[in-house]
Amino acid sequence: MAPTPTKPACQRCGHCCRTLILEVSTEEVEAIPILKQKAWPLDGNGKIPADKVTTWSLNHRTAPFTCVFLEGDSHCSIYGVRPQMCREFGPSDERCAMHDR
Ligand code: SF4
Ligand code: SF4
Repeated sequence: MAPTPTKPACQRCGHCCRTLILEVSTEEVEAIPILKQKAWPLDGNGKIPADKVTTWSLNHRTAPFTCVFLEGDSHCSIYGVRPQMCREFGPSDERCAMHDR
């Protein structure tokens, strides 16, 4: 019997945390309090009132636009409570650095 192909494991290289647009919802920001400490509201440069903001960014506002929770090159400082998008992202996504190898 042929061996079952194994899924490639995430190498935790941090490439996705350094290069992608990282946005989370207000619901998730409210559910994970540490997000609110560093995430910033996408309020259309003040055009959207604070109570109407639906999306928050985890990217630094100025270059390099890495995740505000990334420490060093590849360490997530909130790994245990990272947002759902981070939990769902992995080597199967074509934007993963493993696709460049
Ligand atoms: S999902 Fe891919 S790009 Fe992101 S840390 Fe894992 S191996 Fe690196
Ligand atoms: S929260 Fe953590 S896993 Fe998610 S993008 Fe930021 S550093 Fe990466």
